[in-house]
Amino acid sequence: MLDFSLHLDNPDQTSFLRPSRYLKGGMSQYPYRMMANAVSKGVRVFAGEAVLSIDSGMDTRFVIRTEKRTIVADRIINAIDAFAFGKIAGNVARDIQNTKQFQDLKYTSCATVDAWWDDRFWERSQLLQGNTLLQISNHDECFNLMIIPNYPYVKGSNGTRAAYDDGVCVETWRDLLNSGNASLLREEIRAGMQRVFTDVVVPLPRTVKGFVHEQAWYNLGAMSPFNNEDIRKWAVRPVSLWDVSMVGEAYNPAYSSWTEGAIRSTMWTLREKYGFSFPCLEYLDLGALNCASQGSQF
Ligand SMILES: Cc1cc2nc3c(=O)[nH]c(=O)nc-3n(C[C@H](O)[C@H](O)[C@H](O)COP(=O)(O)OP(=O)(O)OC[C@H]3O[C@@H](n4cnc5c(N)ncnc54)[C@H](O)[C@@H]3O)c2cc1C
Repeated sequence: MLDFSLHLDNPDQTSFLRPSRYLKGGMSQYPYRMMANAVSKGVRVFAGEAVLSIDSGMDTRFVIRTEKRTIVADRIINAIDAFAFGKIAGNVARDIQNTKQFQDLKYTSCATVDAWWDDRFWERSQLLQGNTLLQISNHDECFNLMIIPNYPYVKGSNGTRAAYDDGVCVETWRDLLNSGNASLLREEIRAGMQRVFTDVVVPLPRTVKGFVHEQAWYNLGAMSPFNNEDIRKWAVRPVSLWDVSMVGEAYNPAYSSWTEGAIRSTMWTLREKYGFSFPCLEYLDLGALNCASQGSQF
């Protein structure tokens, strides 16, 4: 059970990422481009090898073991999400895992089904009343939310996110996906749409592709004594003995389920521990263009 009242504890919360913008190639372009940018500035990236343990002895230097190498560091900014971090061994990882704040972070699973159509049936429905449909939701239906991207490169293929559910229907979608029966999945998508778009004939989607995102996003568990701000501050240095910060959406529940949570959490750590300054963090009316860092110890 999650504590959604915590979404209300920061009424000044604004977003510098509105209106939503999606990169060509999808959200994964963010890490790919950030990595490319970092590498071009001399950063070394070891992708594709999980961190297995984080240890430290009395000299407080860290020993990080991956499947392929051992890295020694004098400080760590960890961007591994909480569920995966919970599986990491070593005394430093364990000290963080043992904090009450870490244990109160709870993930939610989300099922999505993308569907491509031969026919933009929704555009013929009177429900639209001449408007462009970008998304439609019906919590009585297992599809829950359908998103119709309007960007030229997706619109041409009639691609939609035809189911988007992090509630009671996740298990239903999981069962359908695990059954491996694509016809059943296509029919379930069609039937859900038909019950909403009653004035048009909904065809079977041409192609469907579904996925259950197990640790889709994080919130605080119900009855947690902490609020969002407590977690954000805790994450800058969860255990005073160790110079380790936790950054990511998981550690900034005020912005749960948004990339912005990860970006803001990173900026907080860079500001509070490493002397960066991000004007968009200070002034709520500033947008993304004002997020560039100003000065740092590096
Ligand atoms: C279906 C879905 C749709 C979404 N849509 C949007 C959207 O439209 N807009 C938006 O802003 N946000 C969206 N989000 C949220 C967005 O994806 C997250 O907020 C964002 O990915 C969080 O970034 P992060 O870096 O905190 O965590 P993650 O992206 O989860 O990164 C954690 C990383 O840690 C790595 N890792 C795990 N274990 C280890 C290990 N042992 N060693 C090393 N690395 C490890 C993982 O591989 C992963 O790359 C969506 C999320 C989902 C699930």
